Amino acid sequence: MSMVQASAVNESEIRQWLEEVPDPEIPVVSLVDLGVIREIKRDGDTWLVNVAPTYSGCPATRIIHDDVRAKLYEKGLRPSDFQVVSVLSPPWSTDWISKSGRQKLADYGIAPPQPSGKPKACPQCGSSDLELVSQFGSTPCKASWRCRSCLEPFDYFKCI
Ligand SMILES: [Zn+2]
Repeated sequence: MSMVQASAVNESEIRQWLEEVPDPEIPVVSLVDLGVIREIKRDGDTWLVNVAPTYSGCPATRIIHDDVRAKLYEKGLRPSDFQVVSVLSPPWSTDWISKSGRQKLADYGIAPPQPSGKPKACPQCGSSDLELVSQFGSTPCKASWRCRSCLEPFDYFKCI
């Protein structure tokens, strides 16, 4: 691993690196796609990486911070070069999921989280005629739902 000078990298470079970090709950999308990585800015000699937790109370928040740090170390930054900061306000919103992030979620049959706490549409056919199968899906942050139109089961990402 080669060291880089913190002053020699720029914001878009750091953002590009973080595009390689998958979300721990839904690995098909990156933290950048999910809108979890907010502002990246320079404060004196330190880069501040603002992270908006999507799911307060889920263990994923800590994992996200660790994964961001691990990626920046891998790219050659030192611990003194940056700080990962939790930003709680404004709260993370599904509006922040990028277009490509939404497409990837749909491709993998995962309904993105909604403020209502319920999926809005079937990721397969778009129908809103949905039923809850189980509060607990493949991970604690997902619930299992089924579409009454196409009868396909799907994961709903529930922790927000
Ligand atoms: Zn459907």
